[in-house]
Amino acid sequence: MVICPLDFDRSGKQQGFLRIPYSHNLGGWANVMIPITCIVGGPGPTALVLGGNHGDEYQGQIAAMKLARDLTPEQVAGRVVLIPSLNFPAARVSTRLSPLDGMNLNRAFPGEPEGMVTSQIAHFLTTVLFPLSDIVIDIHSGGRSMEFFPCAHMHVVPDLDQRRAMTAAMLAWNTDFAFLYTDIAGTGLLPVEAENQGKLVVTTELGGGEAIPAHVHRVAQQGLRNVLIHTGVLAGKSQTREQQGLPPTVLTAALAAENYLLAPESGIFEVAVELGEAVRRDQPVGYLHHLERPDRSPEVVRSPVDGYLICMRAPCLTCQGDCVAVIAQAVDPARLEQPGPLRL
Ligand SMILES: [Zn+2]
Repeated sequence: MVICPLDFDRSGKQQGFLRIPYSHNLGGWANVMIPITCIVGGPGPTALVLGGNHGDEYQGQIAAMKLARDLTPEQVAGRVVLIPSLNFPAARVSTRLSPLDGMNLNRAFPGEPEGMVTSQIAHFLTTVLFPLSDIVIDIHSGGRSMEFFPCAHMHVVPDLDQRRAMTAAMLAWNTDFAFLYTDIAGTGLLPVEAENQGKLVVTTELGGGEAIPAHVHRVAQQGLRNVLIHTGVLAGKSQTREQQGLPPTVLTAALAAENYLLAPESGIFEVAVELGEAVRRDQPVGYLHHLERPDRSPEVVRSPVDGYLICMRAPCLTCQGDCVAVIAQAVDPARLEQPGPLRL
């Protein structure tokens, strides 16, 4: 059902809109219109650059918009397709989920051709955009609910060649931390569909919130460009952290449910350590204060392992079951060279 006006084989730069019919009370024959840019410069690989999979995550939306405006075909060795605000209806109202159908685009894959709007977006990626791409870059942050230490991250995919390529591209983002993650909150994720199609998938969690510091925007924009050069999509020479006088990226992993700390009861969350700070097993990482019973001692949230605080809850007000912290454990990068699942 998604209408696409672009010819992805045509040389040069095209800008247009994906259109999805959406009939509502004040727009009987209306379309949802999602901006898309395609730049074809040469015979090299194709990258699909996606921001706004969740509408309340702006770092990737801004980085993709700037790249879509700035890039000329002469700078592109292959082909790059950019969709800055993938869940456009959600981006317009700054929400994680679509206001049109209540769906989470990042749980909607592979999607349905005649499903809800969100499901149709997922289906178009699954059947049209992923098959023509070699590299899929899906830029996330913590949105309004979580704050991450800015990092590139990935799943530990079983295919070793794919895993090597994804690891190298993840490290080419040049973030201080990289993060191996697992899906603790549902299925139907965009990166999983792209991985299953054999793509080189690069994802990020670049901070969070709506008060985004300038240095986080720089990480988003410089990292995206560097990954596109590293993968041969853009012309130029990629930069390493070493060349910038920086220590190697710290590789971490949160692969067990216990790494993701959930609030045992509702309250006001007070974080006790800085993002990116090392923590020891049993160390308090935060406290849940009782709004209605301030005389009671707060509930102490402790780290289950030695690791780093890689993510914290952003709003202080917390409901039972909300994720309040993620503790990622240090991993020797050589472990990724060993076949089979990674166990810490
Ligand atoms: Zn997200």
